[in-house]
Amino acid sequence: MYKVYTTKHILNIHKHCDGGWFWIKYSASPYLGCEYGCTYCYCREDKYDPHKREIDPELLELEDPFSEYIKIKDKAPELFKKAIANKPKDLIYLDSYQPVEKKYGYCRKILEICLEYDFPVFINEKSPLLLKDLDILKEINDRSYVNVGWSIISGKDDEISAIFEPNSPKTDSRLEAMGELTENNILTGTVFMPILPYISDKEENIEEVIKNTSINGGKYILDGGLTLNGYCKTYFFNFLEKYDSALIEKYEKLFASEELYSQISIKIHKTVLKYCNKYSIANYINRPIKFFPPEIQINKKVSEKLFLKAREIQMEGGDKFKEWAYRKAAWEIDELNDNILDIYNKEGRNGLLLLKGVGKSIALEIEKILISNIINEQSKNI
Ligand code: SF4
Repeated sequence: MYKVYTTKHILNIHKHCDGGWFWIKYSASPYLGCEYGCTYCYCREDKYDPHKREIDPELLELEDPFSEYIKIKDKAPELFKKAIANKPKDLIYLDSYQPVEKKYGYCRKILEICLEYDFPVFINEKSPLLLKDLDILKEINDRSYVNVGWSIISGKDDEISAIFEPNSPKTDSRLEAMGELTENNILTGTVFMPILPYISDKEENIEEVIKNTSINGGKYILDGGLTLNGYCKTYFFNFLEKYDSALIEKYEKLFASEELYSQISIKIHKTVLKYCNKYSIANYINRPIKFFPPEIQINKKVSEKLFLKAREIQMEGGDKFKEWAYRKAAWEIDELNDNILDIYNKEGRNGLLLLKGVGKSIALEIEKILISNIINEQSKNI
C-alpha cells in the first residue's frame, strides 16, 4: 500500500560523520518503510519505526506494516533541493531503490540534485533497479564521488536468503549489478551485514561472499553484526523458528550475554579478515576526501586514520576506553576549522595537545601521520 504524505523533513544531518564505516554526514530517503522487508531489519525498532504515530486503521490489518505500508514524501525532490542547497559539501547516504521507485522516480530526481550541487553519494542497496540511473551515477562519479555498497548476507541464493530476505532481489542479481558498476568504474563493494550468528557465519559462506565480491570487482567488505532490539527480536524469531527452531535457545543465550556476543562477533570478524586477505580485498572503505575544501583535506586524512583505528579496536573487541579515545579525537580533528598541519607547524606537538580529546599518545600518532603525509607530498613533487 502506498500513501503520499506531507512533511517538511527529508534531510538528516548527523552530529558526526560515521567515521570508519560509510563516511557519511547526511542521509535522505523519499520513502518510509521498505518493501523488501528483510526479517533482520533494525528499522522495525520503535525509534526508527515509520508508523509509530500512525492512526490509519488500515495499518492494523497488515501483518508487517513496515514493508506493506510505504509512505511517500510529497514533493520529496523539491524538499531535498531546498534542504541541501546551502549545506557544506559532504557525503550523503541514500538507499531507496525499492519497487515504489518505479512509480515515483524520486531517487533519480534526488541524484539529479546531487549532481547539480556536486554532492558525493554513498548508496547502500539491495536492488539492481539502481542501474536505471547509471547515467547519472557516472556523471556524479566524474564530478564528485559515488560508492555503491551492496547489502549481501549470503554468497548465493540459498535457504538463508529465501528465509531471511524473502522479498529482496536475488543475491545473484546484486552481484551482477556490482559487476556492472565495476565495468563503469564506479566504486562498489559488499556491506556484509548483518552476519547472522550460527547461520550465515559459516566459514564457507563468509568465503563465498568475499570471493563473489572479488570476482565482481568489489573493492571492500564491510562486515557487521546483528542487533535485535524491541519488536525486531519478536519479528526475527518467527523466521528463526522456521529456519531452525533449535536456534531460538542459542539466540536467547547469545543476546543475554555481552561476553558471548562479543566472543562470537570477534570470531566472525577474524574469519572475514582471513578471507579479505586471501582475496586481496579491503575490510574498510577508504575515506573520500577530494570534495572537501583543500585547506581542510589534511584534517580529513588525519581523522580517517584515527576513525579506522577506533573501528579496528571495536571489531577486535579491544579496550573500549582506547576505542572511544581514538573516536573522540577523530571527531575533534574532523570538525576542526583550522588546518591541523598549520597548528603543528606553528606549535609542534604542544599545539596538538591543546585539541580537545587529544592526549600524549594520540598526539604522537597524529604527528607521525602528518610527517608521513609531508614526505608523501614531497616525493610527489620530485
Ligand atoms: S533492504 Fe535494507 S532497509 Fe529494506 S528491509 Fe532490507 S535491511 Fe531493511
